[in-house]
Amino acid sequence: MIRYVDDLQLTDKRVFIRVDFNVPLDDQRKVTDDARIREALPTIELAREAGAKIILGSHLGRPKGVDPKYSLEPAASRLSELLGPEASVILADDCIGDGVKKLVRDLQNRQILMLENLRFHKEEEANDPDFARALASLAPVYVNDAFGTAHRAHASTAGMVAFVKEKAGGLLLKKELEFLGKLILKPQGPFVVVLGGAKVSDKIKVIENLMPKLDALLVGGAMAYTFLKAQGVEVGKSRVEEDKLPLSLKAVEAAERLGKTFLLPIDHLASAEISEKSPPREIDDRAIPRELIGLDIGPRTRAQFRRHIARAKTVFWNGPMGMFEDFRYAEGTREVARAMASNRQAITVVGGGDSGAAIHQLGLADKITHVSTGGGASLEFLEGRQLPGVVALEA
Ligand code: ADP
Ligand code: MG
Repeated sequence: MIRYVDDLQLTDKRVFIRVDFNVPLDDQRKVTDDARIREALPTIELAREAGAKIILGSHLGRPKGVDPKYSLEPAASRLSELLGPEASVILADDCIGDGVKKLVRDLQNRQILMLENLRFHKEEEANDPDFARALASLAPVYVNDAFGTAHRAHASTAGMVAFVKEKAGGLLLKKELEFLGKLILKPQGPFVVVLGGAKVSDKIKVIENLMPKLDALLVGGAMAYTFLKAQGVEVGKSRVEEDKLPLSLKAVEAAERLGKTFLLPIDHLASAEISEKSPPREIDDRAIPRELIGLDIGPRTRAQFRRHIARAKTVFWNGPMGMFEDFRYAEGTREVARAMASNRQAITVVGGGDSGAAIHQLGLADKITHVSTGGGASLEFLEGRQLPGVVALEA
């Protein structure tokens, strides 16, 4: 059993909240998608309203040592904007050490101290006990609201929890576990799972774990070509994971044996090259000509996927249907997003990563039951694995 932050007494107390402010930045270091910051607001607001002294810890990217490129300053500014002018957000220049200790000592009720990137110290990812202890010394209360990092056993997500007086999950973590949990516990049927993206290897365990529970599996994106090739279909020069062909064939056979619908693209948008000059060609067939690369699902596949999504009572989607960064190959992804948004009788859940980004770009997030803030974490959860960040919170 996990306690959640709304069950804690926070008044006058220092609370360390592990958030996931690992947000995308543009060349000017502006936050381009602030979904993870906005999703952390309920927990932060709750702590402010309770009159706590708030310390926020997060990582950003994969810095090798201290690197201003990976400063959390842009995320702290965005947080400050979102909280409004009366909120006070202070940015520390480190996450441990004497300077931080002084800032923590001076912290007033309702004030927020944003620590600098935890990964500026390699001890964070190494889950070093001394580093974990140093983080834990900042506050007696620990709250983990960083669902996107819950699949990592790092100092701030796992190690430090042993050294605090009180621990709890945040409201975002709670929401993530609730909606993703519905998918693996008792999903109401028809349960349709839509998967796409680059690689079969990233998602095969999710397929294996969800197969007994789902009614229909719809596969697009580059991973579809590995499944097609495994069944002897010509896929031209499309991206294929040769070493995953046997595993892919097994999944197709498992679906057949269990009587599940397993749909792969029946038509495609393809091109001779991945370049602006090379025009898209519609291929009205399962097979892709030898000289072409499959880059999106075609119109008949889109319509078929849309019909299945429209009939569903539960839908989970992860991974784009094509190379959607190029708008000419974004239609499959957009169609899945729109179909999910239009089905208002279903529980619709979108995994994080690129599909989550696509939903936000299309402005459809408020028509989806839950858009996860965790790409890797949501997949690992749906594989049926225990997330170290969640395990650490269990009493
Ligand atoms: P997610 O982050 O949602 O889990 P992935 O990271 O697995 O998704 O895959 C996203 C990437 O896959 C995108 O960069 C997209 O361009 C690429 N992709 C999808 N379909 C194709 C395709 N047919 N050919 C090449 N790349 C593709
Ligand atoms: Mg991705």
